[in-house]
Amino acid sequence: MTDLSRLPSVDRLLAHPTVVALVELHGRAVATRLVRETLAEFRAAAREGTPIPDEATLIAKVSRRGTPLTQPKLRAVFNLTGTVLHTNLGRAVLPEEAVEAIASAARNPCALEYDLESGGRGDRDDIVSDLLRELTGAEAATVVNNNAAAVFLLLNTLAQKKEVIVSRGELIEIGGAFRVPDIMKRAGAKLIEVGTTNRTHLKDFAEAITSRTAMLMKVHASNYAIHGFTHAVPESELAALAHEHNLPFVVDLGSGTLTDLDRWGLPHEPTPQETIGAGADLVTFSGDKLLGGPQAGIIVGRKDLIAKLKKNPLKRCLRVGKITLAALEAVLHLYRDPDRLDQRLTALRQLTRPEPEIRTAAERLLPVLQTALATLPITAEIVALKSQIGSGSLPVDRLPSAGFAIRPQGRKSGLLKRIEASLRALPRPVIGHIEDGALLLDLRCLEANEEHEFAAQLSALSGLGT
Ligand SMILES: *Cc1c(COP(=O)(O)O)cnc(C)c1O
Repeated sequence: MTDLSRLPSVDRLLAHPTVVALVELHGRAVATRLVRETLAEFRAAAREGTPIPDEATLIAKVSRRGTPLTQPKLRAVFNLTGTVLHTNLGRAVLPEEAVEAIASAARNPCALEYDLESGGRGDRDDIVSDLLRELTGAEAATVVNNNAAAVFLLLNTLAQKKEVIVSRGELIEIGGAFRVPDIMKRAGAKLIEVGTTNRTHLKDFAEAITSRTAMLMKVHASNYAIHGFTHAVPESELAALAHEHNLPFVVDLGSGTLTDLDRWGLPHEPTPQETIGAGADLVTFSGDKLLGGPQAGIIVGRKDLIAKLKKNPLKRCLRVGKITLAALEAVLHLYRDPDRLDQRLTALRQLTRPEPEIRTAAERLLPVLQTALATLPITAEIVALKSQIGSGSLPVDRLPSAGFAIRPQGRKSGLLKRIEASLRALPRPVIGHIEDGALLLDLRCLEANEEHEFAAQLSALSGLGT
């Protein structure tokens, strides 16, 4: 039987310089808890016959227990998945202008709902509505927490207890449980499906219009495409039909960038400008997809309809905070100068990064990776990769990229998983993905000024082989 009385007291451990430092870091309550938990663990082990360790071992254990407390849960990572707008990794990385605006809004009181001219109460939407009107050509604009909320608010305000006509080809599910029929039901609107999965015609809509119809709606299919024998009704025809019946025509654009992506060789995405131009009365889109801004849902369109949305008490529930508005304003500002957008807007810079530049970065970093993994039975080489845009963009539209493929020598299937886990355990976790027996690291989203940080921490991997 181990002598439990040889275990030091809580007070004795609390007086140790290492634990004193922990008190400084986390406070006395947390440090005491860490000491108690460690002592309890060794007491239990001692009852099973394990000898009591020396004090240095105990202290090291207390210290290790405290490590997770110093790391935030919302950690910065390296996104080497090859998906630029990765929903699970926070979608768009914000430009420096937005980061500065966020810091200023967080640090200081700010004119969130305050009219600096009159000294009276202001409207938080006014922070971005002029910019949105200028950039989209719409009469008015409002902002909510995300695009799902935008669609919800719109349906609940304009179509509660009424019917909304949508093509069967557009009854989509976006990842993360956004399903058009479900949102419709929760908003209190009745979905009227028309046409078929692959083909919907104007007469399908026309025949479905009744006295109960609230609106015609189009949902941008975003993350999937139907090819072959297909037909969708052009927006301008749907708008004309809706207006003939005095109904609004609304479009959920999903991603909705405010610039013409073709200009940079990216696949065309319909813009709110085009949609408004085609006669849509309201258009909704996300702030953190191709727009490259913070999570938000933006609604632009007819002034009278926007006014109705803003009067709905749900708008109060779905409103955004000052941090979001600060970032959104800064990002929208960048759109005023489209010529420099691909350099200044981080998400667009990553999407348009030329393959040769990515390959050159891979050539610089390959020796560092090879050295870090030298003790393992693997090969690491530079390979051509195809990045994805992500966030509801078509998965078939791929961007030529480059990065590393790490492959085990011989049949060691567990090894790749272990390397992948070790990359995730680095101070700034590196997220790649395994495909066809190789661990792939796409370097598209590793910015030049981050290469040093990335390379410096790789040496921590060298313990893997032992
Ligand atoms: C992404 C998307 C949504 C949801 O937008 P969030 O900003 O993620 O809430 C809704 N509709 C479409 C068509 C989308 O692509």
